[in-house]
Amino acid sequence: MKIVVKCCGCGRLKLGEDKWTYSMAGLFSNERVSHGICPTCLRILYPKHAEQVLANLEQRRMAQTTAV
Ligand SMILES: [Zn+2]
Repeated sequence: MKIVVKCCGCGRLKLGEDKWTYSMAGLFSNERVSHGICPTCLRILYPKHAEQVLANLEQRRMAQTTAV
């Protein structure tokens, strides 16, 4: 089962890296929803930590990309 991340700040769903969209009813009925936070809300809610968190995510993404 695919896990969909839903932003608890704005309620958007994560479709992919840096792709967030507002929920459409029924679209993700078969997927399990996990709560997370999108980069936009991260910057609003945690301005002091956002850049560091996003930099860490970017580093991890780069590592994964080079590994493949
Ligand atoms: Zn959000």
